[in-house]
Amino acid sequence: METASVSLMWFRKGLRIHDNPALEYASKGSKFLYPIFVIDPHYMEPDPRASSPGSIRAGLNRIRFLLESLVDLDLSLKKLGSRLLVLKGEPSEVLIQRLKEWDIKKLCFEFDAEPYYQALDIKVKNYASAAGIEVFSAVSHTLFNPSDIIQKNGGKPPLSYQSFLKLAGEPTWASSTLSIASSLLPPVGDVRINEFSEVPTIKELGYGDYEQEESTPFKGGESEALKRLRESINNKEWVANFEKPKGDPSAYIKPATTVLSPYLKFGCLSSRYFYQCIQDVYKNVKKHTSPPVSLVEQLLWRDFYYTVAFGTPYFDQMKGNRICKQIPWNDDEELLATWREARTGFPWIDAIMVQLRKWGWVHHLARHCVACFLTRGDLFVHWEKGRDIFQRLLIDSDWAVNNGNWLWLSCSSFFYQYNRIYSPTSFGKKYDPNGNYIRNFLPVLKDMPKEYIYEPWTAPLSIQTQAKCIIGRDYPKPVVCHGSASKECKRRLAEAYALNRQMNGQVSEEDLRNLR
Ligand code: FAD
Repeated sequence: METASVSLMWFRKGLRIHDNPALEYASKGSKFLYPIFVIDPHYMEPDPRASSPGSIRAGLNRIRFLLESLVDLDLSLKKLGSRLLVLKGEPSEVLIQRLKEWDIKKLCFEFDAEPYYQALDIKVKNYASAAGIEVFSAVSHTLFNPSDIIQKNGGKPPLSYQSFLKLAGEPTWASSTLSIASSLLPPVGDVRINEFSEVPTIKELGYGDYEQEESTPFKGGESEALKRLRESINNKEWVANFEKPKGDPSAYIKPATTVLSPYLKFGCLSSRYFYQCIQDVYKNVKKHTSPPVSLVEQLLWRDFYYTVAFGTPYFDQMKGNRICKQIPWNDDEELLATWREARTGFPWIDAIMVQLRKWGWVHHLARHCVACFLTRGDLFVHWEKGRDIFQRLLIDSDWAVNNGNWLWLSCSSFFYQYNRIYSPTSFGKKYDPNGNYIRNFLPVLKDMPKEYIYEPWTAPLSIQTQAKCIIGRDYPKPVVCHGSASKECKRRLAEAYALNRQMNGQVSEEDLRNLR
């Protein structure tokens, strides 16, 4: 149906021109096209669940990344004869008001599987259907439509990556050419121009105070995403040999992976386009790495989590979540604060937490180490607490992927080998024996000899004095003894697992008594 003459393109994620079926459909046959983005105060308000008072849902790095992405999108739209209209307020209210005011006949947006957007969409769709407005909501944020996979699996999401792969198969669009809007877009209709600001600055949004703390080297926007993608893809050998667990988590001058996650998160880069580019490289090389470690497989992991998250009620919490082990995590705010504020006394863990706060991005294995340390490895703090902090600080913070990985790392779901714990002292050393990563992110330890950099509390006082870093004064003592803390964590996990089995009728009272 293409009779509509006035369309509205509602950008949420999908902040791009390439492979944007909703934008393409919105422009077809339209006399006027209103491209809008609504700045949602929800993300800028203090998070009631956050563990540090006044903590805002989205950190400065992510908001800055978003604003840069909007500026870039506006520029691209202007090149195509249009522009981005930026509004502020509760998105469904703002949108419904504009649908009425501009007499919109066609509303287009990208499908979003997150519960927050699903709830918004219901409100907007209800209004549109009562008002006779055509709605087009395209699935283009992921490689697959999560509903299709769940349907193929008899209504339930697949709970292992292998079963997900079997169900998914080859994406249907994979061999077709993805659209890239290159011809002019319909003009924007009449707007009272002073009602719309340009993209606001970070200061105008009230974020000025955090400026010193967080300053990511990664710039937002589709142009930057495509440039970054080309840099990775042009190195065919690197793409062909990509093997996830072998990457160096301590490499920060040139990270070991693509750092495309923030661009995928905001949809500055289409995951489908990324997928096609990798497949093109594979066609042109003699051999390449295979599942589950290859580069293309990383994108499939993303879709796996999207699918499970979409089909699992209460996916982002332990209680009521049928795929999550019930574990009596502690709520120790002081232990949590040492982790969040990079003062656990374990330099490898603290350096990662500093990089996370400063950059909003850390390598996958670094995320593994700190998530394991906080939960089942050492501190036994609830994974939801760590998830909240990641959610605020990551520029790639993604509801499905973040929750899915926290469930994995805390051995609450997907992965259950709780005896395998990352050592906070020896793991990083394998990659970076001299401790350059630590010296960079924790300059207080920059003169510590390499023999002690991962365990500075073991350095004799004379060495600490020489290194101008007295442990307990300039840098904290370890918050726990890793040996005994990890042992205790394993014991509590074993007990919790047995209780879970008992709840499912698989273990007797006597088994439980033996465990204690
Ligand atoms: P590459 O290795 O270059 O991979 C390419 C793309 O594949 C990534 O950009 C990402 O979209 C996807 N991908 C890679 N690894 C994974 C994975 N394990 N699960 C799902 N998708 C993956 N990733 C996020 O995008 N957002 C998050 O909020 C997030 N939270 C995480 C929390 C924890 C505790 C852990 C352990 C991992 C988390 N990850 C998250 C997954 C992963 O660490 C990042 O996607 C990856 O490090 C991003 O770097 P990259 O773009 O260089 O990845």
